[in-house]
Amino acid sequence: MRLVFLGPPGAGKGTQARELAQEWHVPQVSTGDMLREAVAAGTPLGTEAKRYMDQGALVPDAVIIGLIAERLGRPDAARGFILDGFPRTIGQAEALGGLLKDLGRPLDGVVNFEVSEPELIRRLTGRRVCRGCGHSFHVVSNPPKRAGVCDACGGELYQRSDDSEATVRNRLDVYRRQTAPLLDYYRERGLLTSVAGEGRIDDIRAAIRRSASERAQ
Ligand SMILES: [Zn+2]
Repeated sequence: MRLVFLGPPGAGKGTQARELAQEWHVPQVSTGDMLREAVAAGTPLGTEAKRYMDQGALVPDAVIIGLIAERLGRPDAARGFILDGFPRTIGQAEALGGLLKDLGRPLDGVVNFEVSEPELIRRLTGRRVCRGCGHSFHVVSNPPKRAGVCDACGGELYQRSDDSEATVRNRLDVYRRQTAPLLDYYRERGLLTSVAGEGRIDDIRAAIRRSASERAQ
């Protein structure tokens, strides 16, 4: 299976990508992890990427596409892959399409995770971190035994500024402006399947499995 997982921050696509990649014996290709690995390994592309990151600049698409080309060339990607967090823009989608065409391995499908905005905000703003030991909790899905108090060390729990509602709304706006146009791009190419990203994690996974097996036929 050669799939892209698309969805806003907080949609749960990383969790599903990790589980399904294990199940299908294919790599989960996340650009964030890939960049960190390439920088740590000091590969030529990693060194180039680091120059941009050190300046606080965005790593150019050409460098990311180069890293993806390297990653998909490894033996474990022969059976397929799940791209998680890439592409984010139409430009990146076009570059990815060109690369996969050159490799003779086009995408089988794009899975779009649909989650309502109130639910995304609830998920993304619910995180609480311990001032003492850094352990993190979620007010709904993983609450501490006593509200506001760390189970591990008794320290005070607080909300990080990037988890505040204003910042979260801004991240969701950026997603809508940049990435939502990709839904039409892939729909027009007959590649898009949407799954409901709310509900039990197992049910969501089953829905993705069903759509992937339909794609594989
Ligand atoms: Zn603690």
